[in-house]
Amino acid sequence: MSAVSVDKFKSHFPLAGSANDGWSTDEEATATCFCGAVQLKFPTQGPGLVGTLICNCTDCRKITASMFASHFTIADTHLTHLRGRENLTTYSQSKTIATGNTMTNYFCSTCGTLMYRVSSGIPGMSILCIGTVDDFHLHETKLKPAVEVFVEKRVGWLHGAEGVKQVEGSALKL
Ligand SMILES: [Zn+2]
Ligand SMILES: [Zn+2]
Repeated sequence: MSAVSVDKFKSHFPLAGSANDGWSTDEEATATCFCGAVQLKFPTQGPGLVGTLICNCTDCRKITASMFASHFTIADTHLTHLRGRENLTTYSQSKTIATGNTMTNYFCSTCGTLMYRVSSGIPGMSILCIGTVDDFHLHETKLKPAVEVFVEKRVGWLHGAEGVKQVEGSALKL
């Protein structure tokens, strides 16, 4: 099947990284790091799924080693570590966070995939990464970003996500 013919309207688990045991149901789905050591389970609707966003801030460009971050926020009460929690390593800092809050980043210590971020400004929440979600259909649907923030920091050759609310600066107190 070519990429062009992929049906974006049903579950879709392309070959991506080393794990091949991701899954989704109507209510829940998995997110797995590139090597497969770390796997999370999360709800794909409220109240556990709190929000979805794209961020173009300079920190997000560095931390993702890309041009923007695509995140979704899950209440910790609804987040399950299926495996590999002990394989996560953290890096925290507050110097470049606009609010002065401390942002702690959780990475797979084997492959380096950023699995989630936790801000002292929104306790009880984890900010997961859309790109780690195994069912790519969810990237198009339930996890499609609702808002794009720090658009003034966006690289000049990108022009914003189609149909997504565009905001200068942060809309959130992260
Ligand atoms: Zn890994
Ligand atoms: Zn950001």
